Amino acid sequence: MNWIDSHCHLEGFLNKGTLPEILKRSREAGVSHLVAIGTDPEDWKVNHDLATQFPSEIHYTVGLHPNHVDSSWEHHTESLQAFFALEPKPVAVGEIGLDYFRLPKEEPKAAPLKVNQRAAFRYQLALAKELGLPVVVHCRGAFADCVAEIDDSGVEWSKVVFHCFADGPNEMRQLMERGGRGSFTGIVTFGNAENVREAALLQGLEKLMLETDSPYLAPVPFRGKSNEPSFLPYIGEYLAKAFEVEEAALAAITTRNTLDFYCLSSS
Ligand SMILES: [Zn+2]
Ligand SMILES: [Zn+2]
Repeated sequence: MNWIDSHCHLEGFLNKGTLPEILKRSREAGVSHLVAIGTDPEDWKVNHDLATQFPSEIHYTVGLHPNHVDSSWEHHTESLQAFFALEPKPVAVGEIGLDYFRLPKEEPKAAPLKVNQRAAFRYQLALAKELGLPVVVHCRGAFADCVAEIDDSGVEWSKVVFHCFADGPNEMRQLMERGGRGSFTGIVTFGNAENVREAALLQGLEKLMLETDSPYLAPVPFRGKSNEPSFLPYIGEYLAKAFEVEEAALAAITTRNTLDFYCLSSS
């Protein structure tokens, strides 16, 4: 069986010196490709280096995560553009988006931060549109604003994934109406995530993609521990039961969907 982790963060493993064993376990678990997702200028560089070192196994994206947007976002997003002239190239722009969850609760304090997040998101959506690349969206506590920005950007919704989809069927319906999609982490295996499971079933298999979002959000039975790409099959096994299909069939379809979304070859 062959799996792809469509969204993970590898910088922490590299810094701790555990990356070789993480990659070994991931291969042993049948996870053949990893998409290392960018969040800030430091991991863009790390991810590019890893994709250079492991060209058939690790692919990478670059994007300024909303939690890393500050007053110097314009400077950072300019340096981001340089990666598209390099080999190997990033396979998508992301993760980018809006995260209102961690902002101050007082609206006067939050308002200018939201303005910056929206401006950085808009700028990077325009870049993705210009390059014709897929977009990995991080959206937390800001669903309506995220959808509005993407609608306004003119980016093709078929190229948009709301990663770590953690909303319910209503939000999923809005993505589906537009031709977008959500991808699913270990959250679907959590006991209290009934609405997320409903959203996954509503979307169906046709666009389903799986991700660990390592090192965060380990699936059951590892909930609360450090997550790693080798845990991806636990999410797949759980969803195969939910969809009432064979695990091998779910692995094949999610692998195909992810290769197609990021325009990767299967070799
Ligand atoms: Zn995210
Ligand atoms: Zn992420």
